Amino acid sequence: RLCQLTAEVLECDCSHTFLWQPQEQGYVAVASWGDSADQQETLAALTIPPEAIADLVQHLEKEEVVQRAASDPRGLFPSVLLRHMEVTVLLGMALRRGEHIIGVQTAGYRGRTRPFTSQQHRIALGIAQIASIALHNARLLEQAESANRLKSEFLATLSHEVRTPLNIILGYNEILLDEEVSHPTTEQAKILRRIRDNTRGLVELMTTMLDVSRLEAGRLLIEARHIQIADLLREVETETRDLREKTNLQFFWRIASQLPPLYTDPPKLKIVLKNLIGNALKFTPQGSVTVEAHAHGTGVEICIADTGIGIAPASLPVIFEPFRQVTDTSRPSQGGVGLGLYIVRRLLELLGGTITVESTVGCGSTFRVWLPFERAADALPQ
Ligand code: ADP
Repeated sequence: RLCQLTAEVLECDCSHTFLWQPQEQGYVAVASWGDSADQQETLAALTIPPEAIADLVQHLEKEEVVQRAASDPRGLFPSVLLRHMEVTVLLGMALRRGEHIIGVQTAGYRGRTRPFTSQQHRIALGIAQIASIALHNARLLEQAESANRLKSEFLATLSHEVRTPLNIILGYNEILLDEEVSHPTTEQAKILRRIRDNTRGLVELMTTMLDVSRLEAGRLLIEARHIQIADLLREVETETRDLREKTNLQFFWRIASQLPPLYTDPPKLKIVLKNLIGNALKFTPQGSVTVEAHAHGTGVEICIADTGIGIAPASLPVIFEPFRQVTDTSRPSQGGVGLGLYIVRRLLELLGGTITVESTVGCGSTFRVWLPFERAADALPQ
């Protein structure tokens, strides 16, 4: 983009970005505009040693922008470069990081021998400055992304390692709670159940963190197959029974009959639906929760509607972001870490679906999940 802009703004034939590459101890063309496929190939194989452009760098230190005709005997640009680029006049601009020159942005004419005008010179000066900032930002972004990857890997390892002992605690806890094996007193059983519930909460948190780090590291594989939506929703109904029975809410399932089969990854879709149902139950002190599925366009729409506390309009855009919860003194704290809806959104992206939400404070919320019945063969990884 930088090379294209340079060539367009300076109205010349080609532009190249050469950057110092420490591992190769030379300057390498990292981008180009206006080259033929052959020229790109030869340029890609070229590493310019520092001594070959020492003069050029010295000039750029003082002047920021320099130009030379290929025929000029006071050649500043290495002849091998001019030959490869087939240019007749070449303009070089300093690319800097702080005080140091880290590369050269070029602009070249092919065939034309008239030099760049002083106005073009001034524009080139501006390009050099903006390009230096843009390259610096790109580098910072690269470093941030690499740090983020490290963080995700660390989280994945940590949550995996912590889950194992937690599951062992749960196992021993079950034995101690077993009336026939351990004969706990009522008081002991009460404490043991508290240990069990808290440990389960931790296992759930660790599993969520593991899912998030896998999602962010792009390591969550999608395994799609054809399923009947009604069957999947029946399974979700069974698997959320415990959760539902802890509330006094009414629960409605309205599944349209004769829905076409859905090509999707069933466990991932279940995570999505269970998260949304779990939230609906968590944030609805009284009334009902309704799960409804019907055909919508070329896919299925699954709505999870509740008559709960609702979400203020200002909070709606942020609830799908990681670690975001609606903080409002009037809302009772419900635990959680604010990762559920983020996972929902990311999983739906992977499944080729979408999610929207409508909500009115004090009346309730409706989350609408849409998924295509079929996806192009290459859209869902196998
Ligand atoms: P968590 O439930 O762990 O806090 P989520 O990402 O699942 O995190 O949800 C983010 C926030 O969105 C919740 O903390 C809650 O404030 C709000 N929210 C989600 N679902 C509902 C709902 N059905 N009704 C009201 N608020 C909700």
